[in-house]
Amino acid sequence: MALVTMRQLLDEAAGGEYGVGAFNVNNLEQVQAIMDAARETESPVIIQASRGARKYANDRFLYHLMEAATEVYPEISVALHQDHGNSPETCRSAIELGFTSVMMDGSLMDDGKTPSDFEYNVRVTREVVEMAHEAGVTVEGELGTLGGIEDDVGSGEVNLTDPDQAVEFVERTGVDALAVAIGTSHGAYKFTKEPDREVLAMHIIEEINQRLPTTHLVMHGSSSVPKELVDIINEYGGKIDPTWGVPVREIQEGIKHGVRKVNVDTDLRLAATGAIRKAFAEDPSEFDPRYYLKPARAAMQEVVEARMVAFGQAGHAKDYDPIPLADMAIRYREQGHSLTVS
Ligand SMILES: [Zn+2]
Repeated sequence: MALVTMRQLLDEAAGGEYGVGAFNVNNLEQVQAIMDAARETESPVIIQASRGARKYANDRFLYHLMEAATEVYPEISVALHQDHGNSPETCRSAIELGFTSVMMDGSLMDDGKTPSDFEYNVRVTREVVEMAHEAGVTVEGELGTLGGIEDDVGSGEVNLTDPDQAVEFVERTGVDALAVAIGTSHGAYKFTKEPDREVLAMHIIEEINQRLPTTHLVMHGSSSVPKELVDIINEYGGKIDPTWGVPVREIQEGIKHGVRKVNVDTDLRLAATGAIRKAFAEDPSEFDPRYYLKPARAAMQEVVEARMVAFGQAGHAKDYDPIPLADMAIRYREQGHSLTVS
């Protein structure tokens, strides 16, 4: 069993000065693609499920897919994370299900759409921290809002994170990791031209990192939307308008300044869709789902491997043994919510 808490995984990443990709899953092929990539590159990894994913796959299926992954890939340290929990209740059910990490996204109200105020965010996030740390589970909070709407999450409004507020938020909530808004969006349509450092507001990451050097920062909406993946979709009958994501080199810049978790979802969606469209076009007489799901899985694996190498997590799978949840709970109790990075 190599299920690890996200806190330990990110502490290790901080010690080694690398970032860790957090990849979203909804089904078997995605879990296999990500775990195969982790094995191939010897990477620790974060697998995350949104509320939409839990609904799509059903909690029990998701849980057992993850349990199977820890059996089939025992050498890989994997954290199981609830992406964009909309309420303490969602986080509680994830913890009961066996997730080792939860995100309480209090930047939005519990409809997942309406921007909240700072005091609401502090209150619900603190509530989740108290509950989660008692079980040894890691908590990610979010301050500021991202653009775009995906899986029914998001206000569509961009509110960049204020560094002063970030300091107060971390002090008052005790979160282990903080998602910051620097101008990125969820989904495929992030930017209408290649973003530069100003559009991306990378200075916000640098400033927050200087003031909160032991808080693990999280970049959401960090797919790179590679043109070659979009081109495959369009070449085989798809229709994706010209679009830009977050360049990998900018993510690497973030990793130099305290970014430890990098959320990637869209790139896997694009890779799978292109591969399936291509398979359909190449042999219209095929009707065995394995005929198109196999290349889709391989295309996702390829993207994940490239990100694992780029983020620096490759080669670190066997660096450490997972600390059991019960031991993490003791550490939080004895050292307080803001553990010092080991
Ligand atoms: Zn997100």
